[in-house]
Amino acid sequence: MVQATTMPRNETGITAAVARLAEQFADRLQTGQSLREQHGHTTTWIETQAPDAVVFPTSTEEVADIVKICAEFGVPVIPFGTGTSLEGHVNAPAGGICVDMMRMDAILELHQEDLDVVVQPGVTREQLNTYLRDQGLFFPIDPGANASLGGMVATRASGTNAVRYGTMKDAVLSLEAVMADGTVIRTASRAKKSSAGYDMTRLLVGSEGTLGLITEITLRLQGIPEAIRSARCSFRSVDEACRAVMMTIQYGIPVARIELLDELSVRAANQHSGLELPEVPLLLLEFHGSEAAVVEQAETFAQIAEEFGGFDIAATSTAEERNKLWQARHDMYWACLGLRPGAKGISTDVCVPISRLAECVSAARARAEEMGLMAPVVGHVGDGNFHALLLIDMDSHEERAKADEFIGWLNDLAISMEGTCTGEHGIGQGKRPYLQRELGETTRFMAAVKAALDPDNILNPGKIL
Ligand SMILES: Cc1cc2nc3c(=O)[nH]c(=O)nc-3n(C[C@H](O)[C@H](O)[C@H](O)COP(=O)(O)OP(=O)(O)OC[C@H]3O[C@@H](n4cnc5c(N)ncnc54)[C@H](O)[C@@H]3O)c2cc1C
Repeated sequence: MVQATTMPRNETGITAAVARLAEQFADRLQTGQSLREQHGHTTTWIETQAPDAVVFPTSTEEVADIVKICAEFGVPVIPFGTGTSLEGHVNAPAGGICVDMMRMDAILELHQEDLDVVVQPGVTREQLNTYLRDQGLFFPIDPGANASLGGMVATRASGTNAVRYGTMKDAVLSLEAVMADGTVIRTASRAKKSSAGYDMTRLLVGSEGTLGLITEITLRLQGIPEAIRSARCSFRSVDEACRAVMMTIQYGIPVARIELLDELSVRAANQHSGLELPEVPLLLLEFHGSEAAVVEQAETFAQIAEEFGGFDIAATSTAEERNKLWQARHDMYWACLGLRPGAKGISTDVCVPISRLAECVSAARARAEEMGLMAPVVGHVGDGNFHALLLIDMDSHEERAKADEFIGWLNDLAISMEGTCTGEHGIGQGKRPYLQRELGETTRFMAAVKAALDPDNILNPGKIL
């Protein structure tokens, strides 16, 4: 069973840092137990490890002040967005100060002609898209939760649109960050490309708060396409659905979204979102482009799907129908919890090369069934990325042990297929053993980077490595 990391606490330093921060931040420093606990766990199965205090800065200068105080006393600093990460990312194994970024939620500059925007880290993806809607622009990266953009940068998040628009790795042009000694840096300019030195932007993207605190983000935007068309298609088996996905991608259809729901997930969506879909494996798709292009893409997909036994193929082009379908997809986590009331959902995330997708998903489903685990599968399958959501009675030692065994087995399987132990959720505490297995010696060089940038290990300690 993956246990929370344990680390020694620096009691004297923590007491001194909390006192100094209280002087500067007054009631924006909170030490109440429930607030601390709420900030010391995420939607995770790893037990809560609360920080000693939560502070709410409103500017980069304040973040730098917090980090300098914590550096002086050798106290952990844990940045926090909306707390939706899934692998114990914001736990505080050595206590310390949680820096809640959600009051830094301004959209600072929109450069319409350059298709970019500068935001503070507490802006959420939905907030940004609401702001952009009237400008004919959108920000495509859409994790299932309404996460903060700072958290999304820090976890290198992605979502249903990644197959067409990429992940946070592709969307971030530049960052402002507070480093471990309190220095404020900017990693790049607003230029669309640059060969200027080491790529500090991409080093911070996915660093999970362990290398710096992100205080400003410059993001690439996309124009809202002239036409959007959604489609759905049912299959007799997950294997057939995955083979249709592989062929669609290999054929070069520029799908904007292609999502798999297995039959259990479809049942959950029907119950939760009032849909009436056939309870068999389902692909949900979206096509972006000109009116003619989206019709052509949808027709080509339909031909491919039929070759693999796809049926009940339906296209939707009204915004209302489309939104209902995609909202149901985004609500899948909560919908699946309804399949086993009282159970906890453990979402495990792997990604394999597209040519191994059908084999990996089919093996995962067979193994879960063999082990007697209820584990609906959903996936951003256009990228070879899928999640099994294990519905577990956390009071049952036997079920927890089985879940642990399944997760280990699935991660090893993905790695053995030249895939990864996480396509988008990140490492946090939960995936640390698999990172070692996936990258081996490389983790030694990752540790060297961490030691160079944060020699006293105060930034979100106990995560990734
Ligand atoms: C229902 C559900 C569906 C999800 N679906 C997806 C999905 O489709 N794709 C996907 O990628 N993820 C998904 N996730 C996971 C989660 O939403 C993402 O990991 C998200 O990016 C986390 O953002 P957050 O604001 O909640 O960050 P938090 O959970 O608050 O923090 C995550 C990590 O980022 C660090 N951090 C936060 N803010 C900063 C900052 N300003 N500077 C430096 N470090 C910072 C934290 O220290 C922590 O290590 C899902 C989660 C849930 C609950």
